[in-house]
Amino acid sequence: MSCVFCAIVEGRAPAWQVYEDDDCQAFLDINPATPGHTLVVPKHHATDLLDLDEGGAQLVMRATHRVARLLDERLSPAGLNVVQATRAAAWQTVFHMHMHVIPRYDDDGLTPPWRVAPADAGQLADISRRLTG
Ligand code: 5GP
Ligand code: ZN
Repeated sequence: MSCVFCAIVEGRAPAWQVYEDDDCQAFLDINPATPGHTLVVPKHHATDLLDLDEGGAQLVMRATHRVARLLDERLSPAGLNVVQATRAAAWQTVFHMHMHVIPRYDDDGLTPPWRVAPADAGQLADISRRLTG
């Protein structure tokens, strides 16, 4: 199965590189939400967050943290968002696990993808029970 991010990691497809270590690579998103929007990927193919084991997840998070620091130092954004999409229902479009690191700038025009509203206390209690019971 062809995977565009495997092709980038293996040097078979071009990308604007940002960061690399033994386990992960980071490159600029070709459709950036803001200037500097970077994707951090594990070098070994994993479909999504749930397809990584705990060790793999730690390595991706370590690289994500390093990329966040790098973007902050070199691009001086006002803030950063870190976003991850797992499965199509959550807007995943490339099925090689990746973290989005998105520098934020004053008046960059981005808006939150969700609306906040207080939940019913009974629902919160029920979900907490299902997750901890
Ligand atoms: P997702 O929607 O799966 O969370 O994010 C996939 C991201 O990959 C999108 O933001 C899209 O712009 C980016 N993307 C898709 N194809 C390529 C590509 O060939 N090269 C790069 N650098 N980014 C890509
Ligand atoms: Zn892949």
